[in-house]
Amino acid sequence: MTEKRLEGRIAVVTGASRGIGWQAALALAREGAHIIAIAKTVGALEELDDAIQAFNGSTTLVPLDLMDYDGIDRLGAAIYERWGKLDILLGNAGLLGAITPLGHANPTKDWDKVLGVNLTANWRLIRSLDPLLRQSDAGRALFMSSSAAHKCKPFWGVYSVSKAGLEAMVRTYAGEIEQTNLKVNSFNPGGTRTGMRAKAIPGEDPMTVPHPSEVVPFIVDCLLPDCDKNGQLYDFPTRSWKSYDHPVLG
Ligand code: NDP
Repeated sequence: MTEKRLEGRIAVVTGASRGIGWQAALALAREGAHIIAIAKTVGALEELDDAIQAFNGSTTLVPLDLMDYDGIDRLGAAIYERWGKLDILLGNAGLLGAITPLGHANPTKDWDKVLGVNLTANWRLIRSLDPLLRQSDAGRALFMSSSAAHKCKPFWGVYSVSKAGLEAMVRTYAGEIEQTNLKVNSFNPGGTRTGMRAKAIPGEDPMTVPHPSEVVPFIVDCLLPDCDKNGQLYDFPTRSWKSYDHPVLG
């Protein structure tokens, strides 16, 4: 690669220990970004660090359970102390939870945990990191959604609700930061060959869905300073931006 498009930029990537987040962290680091990599699994974060250091990239590893909301506040304080700003937030960490009728979902293991990681943690990240993103000359935040937010299939209720809430939050936040240098969007990767997909569709031949490395160049594009979209959804399966201008309500 000749020109590194994110040289010197600071990027938080949640769910960086495997799947889409791992590949996104690698791709952003290859573009020159310093990666603040967040996940619970320490060994996997260390492997990510090795992979990034192999091409002289740089990371800060943050082993953190995103349901530790005070920890998210401490993260903001630590980034402020060290860099005084944040250029990129990739809110990627997610949980599927049980595929089960809404009435059978476990209140803590399913509802609280899935809503906690997929929605509340992303709000806490916004709350903690928004002042730092505003300090960047071209702050970019991208949150990993799912077609489940719109399809609302039976038995996928908890996950669907979490992603629909996430998209509503992203659209709201995007309106609030319209007059700043920050841009905020959602991203639908579509079916992608990860552990989560294998759990969601157990009978599927994994080779029939794209590897995360095929998706992440499009994630990187959404995080570049020259991405001028705001309050929209990038839909990887159709390779297109969706603007929410649909006639559900008058
Ligand atoms: P994986 O299950 O492969 O990875 C999930 C990541 O989230 C892991 O790094 C995991 O790290 C992290 N994570 C989960 N819970 C927590 C927590 N409490 N605290 C910190 N980190 C946590 O998922 P994918 O890569 O498949 O999914 C990435 C995103 O893309 C998710 O938001 C998902 O909803 C979305 N998506 C994925 C699709 C697919 O087909 N794969 C389709 C549509 C959307 P650790 O366990 O180490 O904490």
